[in-house]
Order: sequence, then structure tokens, then C-alpha cells
Amino acid sequence: MTYITEKQLAIEAVTKAAILCTQVRAEMVGAESLEKGDKSPVTVADYGSQALVCKHIHQAFPRDAIVGEEDSADLKKPENSATLAKILTFVNQFHPQANADMVCNWIDAGNGLVEEKRYWTLDPIDGTKGFLRNDQYAIALGLIIWGELKVAALACPALPVSLADSAKDVGSIFVAVRGEGAYMASLPSDGTEPLPSAFERIQVASSSDEQNLRFVESVESGHGDHSRQQAIAQAAGISQASLRMDSQAKYAAVARGDAALYLRLPSPKSPNYREKIWDHAAGALIVEEAGGTVTDMHGQPLDFTTGYRMQNNKGVVVSNGTLHPIVIEALKG
Ligand code: AMP
Ligand code: MG
Repeated sequence: MTYITEKQLAIEAVTKAAILCTQVRAEMVGAESLEKGDKSPVTVADYGSQALVCKHIHQAFPRDAIVGEEDSADLKKPENSATLAKILTFVNQFHPQANADMVCNWIDAGNGLVEEKRYWTLDPIDGTKGFLRNDQYAIALGLIIWGELKVAALACPALPVSLADSAKDVGSIFVAVRGEGAYMASLPSDGTEPLPSAFERIQVASSSDEQNLRFVESVESGHGDHSRQQAIAQAAGISQASLRMDSQAKYAAVARGDAALYLRLPSPKSPNYREKIWDHAAGALIVEEAGGTVTDMHGQPLDFTTGYRMQNNKGVVVSNGTLHPIVIEALKG
């Protein structure tokens, strides 16, 4: 086994963050969706999640860069003091001694830059729109060494272990180490991280499994090209309607066989969009270790060495492996 410490820390970090996000959502969003209104719950959860994860990783590996989505500059402005106080109340449940300055410092431990040798990347809440809509979201953490994904942890607090299970408040956590397979456990509701024995190995769906021969895509039409995605899926022999999900829960769906394909083609509104590393790192390793394939829309491997945006890639194609060449061929048309 390799990266034992990193893997354990990553599981602990995203579990804590998942609990914080679940609490914020229960308290500040409630049963009603807040899609069009107040964005403050996502702000509180985003910063709180980054503070918890960065503190945990930074304490163990102080020399590792962490490239996270947030920084504390805005939070420190006087007009945001109430937001910072709110974040602190949630963080204090995990670290009773923490004060506002410490929270800002932990958030800023995630302001690192992409490094050649070794760095972590974090999306403290991936799928913020899903978070506010009471849909899917994820906490995504990946470790990249010499450009290669090595460790990934992905917490999906609103994704039941089985899609057939409607208990929306029971989430799933996914973990992978390069060469050692992908694993899933249910997120315990008591605030502890899952025991190592709780993790079960997951595999992508085989293409002959008709029931799971479906594809996933974003809920947000601006994050992809729904009509072309539909046409490409059809060309790959998928006739079922897509499953629309926010966040890297889509990668989880492919990794455990709920879907055989995830298509993310550039939106016609932003044809030159370059994907961000934290939106893909964790999910990509989990799918690869579950036996799937992840490339850009031209069949090129995702390149995690070009800064926080993947400048050498366009779009993302995630599959069970078997479908991959068919999809890449269809995309040439
Ligand atoms: P999803 O929940 O899969 O739709 O993806 C959420 C992520 O989409 C966010 O974390 C953003 O970083 C990313 N995003 C924002 N704008 C775009 C865009 N034009 N194309 C693709 N992804 C985007
Ligand atoms: Mg994101």
C-alpha cells in the first residue's frame, strides 16, 4: 500500500467538511431551496469547508501546496464580519479554540499554486448551485505528484450509497489511491469518519448492462452542451435520457456503475472555457481506479500541470472504458 497517511488524512478532511456542509445546509437552507435568493449558506459552507480541509492537510504536510478555490481576502472586509462570525461558529464545532484570524489563515493555506513535484487541489463545495437547490454537491480533494493523480477523496453528502435508496440525508464517500482501486463507504451521520472496513470496492458498469447504459451531465446548461451531449450519447448507443446531476457526484455515478458515461462538452456560450483542476482531479482518479477512462473531448489525458485551469484540454469525457473510443470517434464528426 502507498500514500497511507495521505489517504487517511484526505478521508478525515473531506468527512469533516461534509459534516460542516450538511449542518450549514440543514440550518441555513432548510427544506426550501434557495436557488434564486440568498447565497450566504454557500458562502459560509464554502469557506468553512476549505478552512477545515486545509487545516487538516496543512498540519500534517506543511510544505505541500494546496490549490483551493477560495481565499479570505473578501472575508476580511469589515462589511463581511457577520459572515466570518457565522463561519467561525460552524468551524468551532470541530476546533473550539479557533478564532476568526485562525479561520482566515486556514482558508489561505489553500492559496498555493500548482507545483511540478507535488500539490493538493481542493474544491470545498463543488456544485454550489446543487447545494442551494438541495441537490447534489461534493467536497473534492486530490493529490498530484509529478503531474499524476495519486490520491483522491470525494465526499457526496447528498448522494445515497445506492441510487435506489431515497434517504437523501445519507451521503457517500469515495476514495482512491493510484494502482489500488476505488472504494466507497456511506458517510456516518454521527460525525466520525467511516472505518476502513466500511469501504467497499467499486467498479464501472459493463457496456452490456442495459439498465446502466445511460449518461450523466450537468444540471446547469451553461456548464456543457446538452444538445450535443445527447447526440454523442446516442451515437455511442445510449438511448435513455440523461441523468442530470451537479458536481463531481457525476464521476461517482460512473465509478460505481450508475451510468456508463459522463459528457462535459464546452458550452456554445463559452466555447473556449478551460476546466479547473479542482472540478476534476478527485473524480478522475476515482473513475480510473474503478476501471474507467477519463480524457478531454479529443481523447487527450487531462493535464494537471498548467496552473489552476487545464490549458491543454477542452471538455471532459468520462466513461466505463469500453465506450471511450466510440465516443471520441463520434466527437470527431
Ligand atoms: P457542475 O456541477 O458539474 O455543473 O459543475 C460545477 C462547476 O462548473 C463549477 O465548480 C465551476 O467551476 C464550473 N464551471 C463554471 N462555468 C463553467 C463553464 N462555462 N463550463 C464548464 N464548467 C463551468
Ligand atoms: Mg467546482
